[in-house]
Amino acid sequence: MDDFETMPVFGVDAILRDVHAQALGREEGEVADYIPELAKADPAPFGIAVATSRGRLHEIGDTRIPFTIQSVSKALTYCMALELVGRAEVLRRVGVEPSGDPFNAIEFDPLTRRPYNPMVNAGAIAIAGILRDVHGDGAFGAVLTRFSEAAGRPLAMNEAVYSSEAATGHRNRAIGHLLVGAGALAEPMDSALDLYFRQCSIEVTAADLAVMGATIAHLGDNPITGRQVFDVAAVRDTQAVMFTCGMYDYSGNWAFDVGVPAKSGVGGGILGVVNRQLGIGTYSPRLDRKGNSVRGVEAFRLLSAEMGLHSFDLTNPGSAFVDSFFAEMPRG
Ligand code: GLU
Repeated sequence: MDDFETMPVFGVDAILRDVHAQALGREEGEVADYIPELAKADPAPFGIAVATSRGRLHEIGDTRIPFTIQSVSKALTYCMALELVGRAEVLRRVGVEPSGDPFNAIEFDPLTRRPYNPMVNAGAIAIAGILRDVHGDGAFGAVLTRFSEAAGRPLAMNEAVYSSEAATGHRNRAIGHLLVGAGALAEPMDSALDLYFRQCSIEVTAADLAVMGATIAHLGDNPITGRQVFDVAAVRDTQAVMFTCGMYDYSGNWAFDVGVPAKSGVGGGILGVVNRQLGIGTYSPRLDRKGNSVRGVEAFRLLSAEMGLHSFDLTNPGSAFVDSFFAEMPRG
């Protein structure tokens, strides 16, 4: 190892401590309350985890507290659908255009009548329909297995959140009917909606989101377990859509400021991907008015600035730069 590699400017653990302490000061925002089960969440926990494509995990704060994955699931099921039926068929049903609308908007592309993109509910429900068409009753099992492989440990669904989603999901059912009308979802639509409610109710931790992100960053290969989880072409397309549409109607600002593909969920999680280099997971359930975790957004913004993670950051010439934060300090 040369001096550059052995003597980092500033180690990742010190950066994580600093970013966590700064973002912890943000106390505004509200826990999601569109279903009773989520309204019960403790607003206090805050964790940040970073997993490298070399298989190392760095964590600070509440990175092992389970919460429901919610809309972060949309990125992973999109990846699965691309693999299963191919890009052309997925694009026939769901577009890739940012909508600028809230996640639960009842809005479709006026020209194609398709959902704008797979990161809004309409697109994700159409994607759930594709998984249902291919896997039938085994669809949720396939999703749970794949999410678990991406996280590198067996995950489970939170039954109470699932029941609450299923009992109150009238808006999503309305979207389902419109999708059937537009030819983007096959009948019976209830099975696709049920899969969507279940996928949103899978429990993860911030550490899981970091490892899932690192799996995407590492060309679909989980760098901790060494297992190939996603197809490389699907991972590329998924990152592109995360970059343009992953943060609800804040996606443009996010691309501008933070500049990494990411997906957030109303459970309080954000999963970020630094292509070929890192996965980042944050958890803090207080949300801003667009539905993104206040502390999560702040943590990503600070980390991106501190480590030069923005995709177009001129100070980031590639992996050697990010690697310098992870190098071992010389001993003695
Ligand atoms: N289960 C939620 C819904 O469909 C997901 C919301 C989200 O995380 O954006 O309304």
